[in-house]
Amino acid sequence: MDYKGQVAVVTGAGRGIGQAIAESLAGLGVDIAVVDLGAEDAGAVAGTLAAKGVRAVPVVADVSNADSVKEMFGTVVKEFGGLDILVNNAGITRDALLLRMKEEDWDSVIDVNLKSVFLCSKEAVKIMSKRRYGRIVNIASVVAFMGNPGQANYSASKAGIVGLTKTIAKEYAGRGITSNAVAPGFIATAMTEKLPDNVKEEMLKAIPMGRMGTTQDVAAAVAFLASPEAGYITGQVVHVNGGMYM
Ligand code: NAP
Repeated sequence: MDYKGQVAVVTGAGRGIGQAIAESLAGLGVDIAVVDLGAEDAGAVAGTLAAKGVRAVPVVADVSNADSVKEMFGTVVKEFGGLDILVNNAGITRDALLLRMKEEDWDSVIDVNLKSVFLCSKEAVKIMSKRRYGRIVNIASVVAFMGNPGQANYSASKAGIVGLTKTIAKEYAGRGITSNAVAPGFIATAMTEKLPDNVKEEMLKAIPMGRMGTTQDVAAAVAFLASPEAGYITGQVVHVNGGMYM
């Protein structure tokens, strides 16, 4: 797969799955805008990527905020001169059972997980359309398809991403832009680390492969969908879940 000279924006790349995606694309020669809320994390990851011989620029942005997103894409164009790949990865959880879920926790999860994909994709397609080439990869979740007690906000945000992914695919196929999603299952990161041990044990029992996924398992699927060779694949969801959902 030949990505040389390409530029990717990876959101939430300061740690976890986003960091692994950024590392995987950088390993293939892609220059990376490392977008994160935290300046320290973004700077550290960009430093590691630069050591692989690509250009990597840390960009601090809140992807749920329209002004911040516009500024972030302005920086990307100024620094790199264009954009080939957008990976909408930033996400949060604010879990509670429906009756206990606070409205602010509903709103913040929808804003960070779903509205961000709308805001970032809108800015990205402006740049990609002109060059008639682009790859958008959105990180959904297995819970978009299965539901999960305690995650009304999160599962709704991820199911929303699937619909948005397909709509962008239909609207921009004619411009050479593909839009796909990767739906990870139960992946070992800070997000899942905070789950109680009994919940983790129950989840492991539901995975035929008998293990949690790694961030690299997810990054490999993203790198494929982001490649020039995946140009006839659009509007799809690739499940990376060890057989947890099929
Ligand atoms: P993580 O370890 O919590 O990392 C998320 C990253 O996103 C953090 O660096 C965080 O920055 C950043 N972020 C949060 N809010 C942001 C905002 N408003 N603007 C910019 N950056 C923001 O999570 P992860 O497990 O790697 O998950 C990555 C993605 O995969 C998420 O979309 C998640 O929903 C999805 N996913 C994860 C799993 C799993 O099992 N881990 C399963 C399915 C799907 P700060 O550290 O500064 O807050």
